[in-house]
Amino acid sequence: MRLLLVEDEPEVASFIKKSLEEGDYEVTVAMDGTMAWETINSFKYDLLIFDLMLPGINGLELCKKCRQQKILTPILMLTALGATDNIIMGLDSGADDYLTKPFKLTELEARIRSLLRRIRPAENEVTEPPTKNSLAFADVVLDLDEKSVTRNKVPVELTATEFRLLEYLLRNPRKVVSRMDILEKVWGYDFNLNTKVVDVYINYLRKKLDKDSKLKLINTVTGMGYILKEVYNEDPN
Ligand code: CA
Repeated sequence: MRLLLVEDEPEVASFIKKSLEEGDYEVTVAMDGTMAWETINSFKYDLLIFDLMLPGINGLELCKKCRQQKILTPILMLTALGATDNIIMGLDSGADDYLTKPFKLTELEARIRSLLRRIRPAENEVTEPPTKNSLAFADVVLDLDEKSVTRNKVPVELTATEFRLLEYLLRNPRKVVSRMDILEKVWGYDFNLNTKVVDVYINYLRKKLDKDSKLKLINTVTGMGYILKEVYNEDPN
């Protein structure tokens, strides 16, 4: 597995690199955003780790540039700030996950494993039989082979994380799923974490899937989580 770590603090960078290399990752370090962008365009990586504050191009801008260029490699953002605004900005700019500094190395490794697992499902993971390659609910169809989604036959562009979130909801229709369930099944975490990221992604999915429709499918159950069911709403906003 080839990782690119973009971190301008040399001591932090070399500590992370050394530790990850013990875990059999191949780690390239870029010390600033400009160098990182050149590297990303020259080599293929399995995962990108961006520090938020960087000289040259900052972590948010790097995320945006990658996604604009259709580079879909998973991105983990490192932020020293931890404020919700920065986390949301990071996710808005196309990052798949974030980690607040200071973090434990075991947590970084867990996040990396989880992100990589999402692009390369484990061999023992249950796969759908070949005849059943799509999931549907109301007028939503999710094609597991093509990784495409339509609503009322109109294509809906989703990111990899949004796709997995929708897939999970479609596999559990008309059933309340908690934020922790979603975090565990969609993000692959089996330890307790802030579930804010779930709310952020539910909102993304709603904007793309439910915004223009009077039939709302993704619904909040206060204090419990979310449910996929048909709720007819005259006011589309
Ligand atoms: Ca920095």
